[in-house]
Amino acid sequence: MENVVIIGAGAAGYTAAIYTARARLNPLMISGPIPGGQLTQTTDVENFPGFADGVLGFDLMEEMRKQASRFDCRTTSAVVESVSFQPGGPHVLKLDNGDEIETRSVIIGTGAIPRWLGLESEEKLKNKGVSSCATCDGAFFRDVPICVIGGGDSAMEEATFLTKFASKVIIVHRRDQFRASKIMVERALENPKIEVSWNSVPVEFLDIEQDRVTGLSVRDVNTGDLKTIECGAIFVAIGHIPSTQAFEGQIKLDEDGYIVVDDGGVRTNITGVFAAGDCVDRVYRQAITAAGMGCQAAIDAERWLESIA
Ligand SMILES: Cc1cc2nc3c(=O)[nH]c(=O)nc-3n(C[C@H](O)[C@H](O)[C@H](O)COP(=O)(O)OP(=O)(O)OC[C@H]3O[C@@H](n4cnc5c(N)ncnc54)[C@H](O)[C@@H]3O)c2cc1C
Repeated sequence: MENVVIIGAGAAGYTAAIYTARARLNPLMISGPIPGGQLTQTTDVENFPGFADGVLGFDLMEEMRKQASRFDCRTTSAVVESVSFQPGGPHVLKLDNGDEIETRSVIIGTGAIPRWLGLESEEKLKNKGVSSCATCDGAFFRDVPICVIGGGDSAMEEATFLTKFASKVIIVHRRDQFRASKIMVERALENPKIEVSWNSVPVEFLDIEQDRVTGLSVRDVNTGDLKTIECGAIFVAIGHIPSTQAFEGQIKLDEDGYIVVDDGGVRTNITGVFAAGDCVDRVYRQAITAAGMGCQAAIDAERWLESIA
């Protein structure tokens, strides 16, 4: 029987691994489909404390991996397919390699995947002007027009935030009104730097040949007409999908699939099961906040294990 199993090898999972390993809990980490997590999919990270000159996302996660292994955290490269959680434990995890693991406590740090449109040109220009995170990448694009695709609260928030850097922000939306909350819409539309391209569906991110973003080709849903919006960056803000399918029916999730935890904390509705990072957090979605929650989860797991020893 394991003491603590950490599901996910991102900022949340590695921080939980470092803390539980240093507390001599002999943690086992299951790294899942993206060892290192979302940050391995980006280039420069300029807002993680401790790196005055910034750091590559991949290098940051490699340092976290080494730090966790220095304290003897064990790692299995497998995916958790399903779980059976009992209040107070033991909990059983079924892996895609056929293994079953029994454990007294679990820390879930499975993250959330940004939703993309699925266009080939979008994929090819990721990290070359195409991003899903304005807080992370907005500062790289100064004094150029920026397109934001979406019509919900996060699109309004990203667009408003990006006006700090952009010469103007064009929100590209497929309908003739936003589904975002009234206050967010008002704030965005009152901003003189924000324009809206209504009834517009993205057709192609330009320009693959130049290997950087120069514009967005959109189709008018009513007329079928094509037009090109010139811009230096495109932020896709159409939501995230929390990676929590393996926990459905076993743990409390909200209507969008995010794990529900106690107020400001990391405890789930199942005693001995903790959750941290982007699988819980729909607001901040940053490596440092995920790491902070990973620390909280490790300390709470340690206290929980002490209480049943
Ligand atoms: C393009 C981009 C740029 C970004 N830039 C920045 C930045 O500059 N600064 C910043 O602070 N943040 C940035 N972020 C956000 C940051 O990456 C996330 O906030 C952070 O990675 C969240 O960490 P996490 O540990 O919660 O989840 P993740 O990093 O998503 O890690 C999730 C882990 O869970 C594993 N997993 C998933 N499902 C399973 C399963 N069923 N079984 C086992 N394992 C599983 C995955 O393999 C992965 O290892 C960026 C994000 C993106 C997409």
